[in-house]
Amino acid sequence: MSIPRTLGDLRRSNFSEERMRSRNVKDELRDNLIARLRQESDEPLFPGIVGYDDTVVPQIVNAILSRHNFILLGLRGQAKSRILRALTTLLDAEMPYLAGCEIHDNPYAPICRRCRDEVARLGDATPVAYLSPDGRYVEKLATPDVTIADLIGDIDPIKAARGGHELSSEMTVHYGLLPRANRGIFAINELPDLAGKIQVGLFNIMQEGDVQIKGYPIRLPLDVALVFSANPEDYTARGKIITPLKDRIGSEIRTHYPATVEEGIAITAQEAWTERNGHLHLPIYVQQVIERIAFAAREDKKIDKRSGVSQRLPISAMENVISNAERRAIRNDEKLVVPRISDVYAALPAITGKLELEYEGEMKGADYVGRELIRAAIAKTYDEYFTGANVQQIVQWFDLGGEIQLSDSFAAAAALENLKEIQGLIDKLGPLGVTQKDSAERQVSAAEFILEGLHAHKRIGRSEERVFKAGEKKQEPAREKNFEPDEKPYRQRRQFN
Ligand SMILES: [Zn+2]
Repeated sequence: MSIPRTLGDLRRSNFSEERMRSRNVKDELRDNLIARLRQESDEPLFPGIVGYDDTVVPQIVNAILSRHNFILLGLRGQAKSRILRALTTLLDAEMPYLAGCEIHDNPYAPICRRCRDEVARLGDATPVAYLSPDGRYVEKLATPDVTIADLIGDIDPIKAARGGHELSSEMTVHYGLLPRANRGIFAINELPDLAGKIQVGLFNIMQEGDVQIKGYPIRLPLDVALVFSANPEDYTARGKIITPLKDRIGSEIRTHYPATVEEGIAITAQEAWTERNGHLHLPIYVQQVIERIAFAAREDKKIDKRSGVSQRLPISAMENVISNAERRAIRNDEKLVVPRISDVYAALPAITGKLELEYEGEMKGADYVGRELIRAAIAKTYDEYFTGANVQQIVQWFDLGGEIQLSDSFAAAAALENLKEIQGLIDKLGPLGVTQKDSAERQVSAAEFILEGLHAHKRIGRSEERVFKAGEKKQEPAREKNFEPDEKPYRQRRQFN
């Protein structure tokens, strides 16, 4: 069966007039959604959307079944745009429209003059073209400078003069984004940033199918599924959204950050770029520490709650952590890349920029706040594995004057030799799933995690040069100084943390 290329062929195809004429885009989304819900499969409705199965997804389903325009309210990095884009999976694989139409007119019910004239002239021979789901999705980030011309259109006097049309005729309109999304999905992100006048224009199109452009009334009975996103505080703030527009948004759906560390890890694993050249082993405790940085940041009162802490923080941090480990492996000619906790500290540049600090945080500085978060994340993760474990022997080794430097650039084999001197350390790696049969890279990473955990709990100390040593209260300053090596193989300009 060949694809119908003319209006006449279309009539005799599955895209019959009876089926297509009055079926608008919201009916189409609804029909396809119902078909998907009927399928007894474990496939998620929106692939790649993690952690929303019991919260956000059912509400979106209800909104679509209700044929609502809807808005997602949530902080940044809560996958709002991704969900809106995923709606295209509920559109038909192919949608016929009148070929050449700028607003993708329904072949059986064209709304633009050009198409009505064309159908009158050519009848069943009028050519038909098709749009894929992606071609039916238009997205716009709202900013205060978006104009009616951008969104709806502009009168083009040259077009009018050339064609001999009245200025108020739709033949003279240069179409904006919304008409170009006709018979598709139009997504506006950060809706409250749209000027009031533009919101009125949007509302008029939704409600009456007509709008005024430069004082001329233009009739455009568009068929569009409108979806929006906004920060909840901006959206509910008085006067940010004109009431009639708010009234026309059928459902308000709240998104959220991952509820559990496991969900956060799943999202980060999906989004972060981890496919590097070498062999990567990513320890679960490193993943947990990275994820808990975001969790700790979302609770921290030094960080602005209204702007939130995006999931992009652990994603970028993960990429940087792996890169730092990759750099070490390349320099030391190691085959296996195994991130360590020191790589997490080295990933601060991927963390600090994603924190909107409150006054107190600004006073302390983003670096300081970032380090504190990492340390809190380490302490929590350490507890998950070693609560109740007897680590006295390790602490004692340091208390008796033992010291060890563990720079993030040190080769695994040499570092492991040094770590073995700490009695009771290497045989404590079991809870982390690491044994003495594992590679040096994995053992060093696990052993360093224990030392970092003890440091995070202030059981042992650590200097700017990453020298682990006795905890502060037992420190003997004179002796400490003597033990500073004269030459440091890798001088790090890091503050004590
Ligand atoms: Zn048309």
